[in-house]
Amino acid sequence: MAKEDPETNFSEWYNDIIERTGLTDKRYPVKGLNVWPPYGWKLMRLIDERIRKHFEDFGYQEVYFPSLIPKSQFNKEAEHIKGFTSEVYWITKGGDNELDEQLVLRPTSETAMYPIFSLWIRSHADLPLKTYQIVNVFRYETKQTRTFIRVREIHFIEGHTVHDSYEDAEKQIADDIEIWKRVSEDIAVPYIMGKRPDWDKFPGAYYTIGADTFFPSGRSLQIATIHQYKDNFAKPYEIKFVDENGNTKYAHQTTFGISERLIASIVGIHGDKKGLIIPPRVAPIQIVIVPIPGEGVAEYSREIFEELESIKIRVKLDERDQYTPGWKFNDWEEKGVPLRLEIGKREVSEGKITYAKRTGGKASMPKEEFMHKVNSLLEEIQSELYSRAKERINSYIKPLHSLEGEMDFYPNYVYWCGEKSCADVIEEKTGKSILSTTEGFGKCIVCGREGQKTIISKKY
Ligand code: ZN
Repeated sequence: MAKEDPETNFSEWYNDIIERTGLTDKRYPVKGLNVWPPYGWKLMRLIDERIRKHFEDFGYQEVYFPSLIPKSQFNKEAEHIKGFTSEVYWITKGGDNELDEQLVLRPTSETAMYPIFSLWIRSHADLPLKTYQIVNVFRYETKQTRTFIRVREIHFIEGHTVHDSYEDAEKQIADDIEIWKRVSEDIAVPYIMGKRPDWDKFPGAYYTIGADTFFPSGRSLQIATIHQYKDNFAKPYEIKFVDENGNTKYAHQTTFGISERLIASIVGIHGDKKGLIIPPRVAPIQIVIVPIPGEGVAEYSREIFEELESIKIRVKLDERDQYTPGWKFNDWEEKGVPLRLEIGKREVSEGKITYAKRTGGKASMPKEEFMHKVNSLLEEIQSELYSRAKERINSYIKPLHSLEGEMDFYPNYVYWCGEKSCADVIEEKTGKSILSTTEGFGKCIVCGREGQKTIISKKY
């Protein structure tokens, strides 16, 4: 059993549970590099599969670009260079030989892709170009690293699109917001999305939209970003096309970034004192069968296992005989398996299945009926997780009416006029950062001018 409670001691609970359940192994001797044991990697792969599906439903195609980028190719967009130079790993040697040109280990892939995009794109008929890749990227983090939250080797899902106009790129951003909504539903993680202030946008972007979720610790975690580049990268990388009238124009671009922070959010948002709760749509094991020894139990359990497998449920039959059923219940609860079947003599003689939901509640029904309902039962757990999390997150974010007095640790919303000087006052008085501006208007909490609803929070 987990020793800590996420509600009272989040940080230690988090560090303990991710290792104890096999999502990670923190013994690798380089800071910020993650070892993915089978259970953790399977979870990531299932999430990736969902993401692939959503991207491709919206016309994206998967690509794979090299992980090393020549220095000259990297050093073309001034803001981008400024944002990333201090974070990149440089490769300077091949064996004993100094390389003629130093190489960057990709911190993100704009500078690997865009010189090639400029060769792929010739005319308006080549647009839009919609690509994504799922790769590892490297960033030399100097802040304290934390598994799945701040790492130096990032499991990165990056979308890169090219368009013939700003307006078409804006439509892409609307699509990306919809893709993101579908991903968040798959992991049952609610979020708030809004525009980042100018000083917090992606290096080189025209503007950045961020999705944040909120942990029981009171801190927020950025879990997705979508960027409008305008023609900021098209100019230095010469991504040009000939339009219908024979005029040569610069293209407009967008990007979309997601990472293993999705796993952090599953852990942090759904977990409880007993351990993880993994949403059924992405759970490596959706159903575990625990036999309670007795006559005919082993055979009946295997029959159920095979039937579930045949309808493509990710199911595990726990036949380990060195452990008691009670021990197994705790073990699978800790690992977050959403649905557990308890099969004993009574189930055998009555032809029934007894099940316990990881979200609470236990019931029995005839096997045939269970097989018929199993998918909707899993979806029921999925939506319970989502609505429960949504309620909890909403309860964290309180309006803040005054900057005087003692501040708590939780996020707030305020109204803010958009001026940096007012943001500085807000951040200084609350100890929280401006996350993003969303829909809603009111008087700026500092200067009283017209302002937009703005989320402030302590960040990871
Ligand atoms: Zn103001």
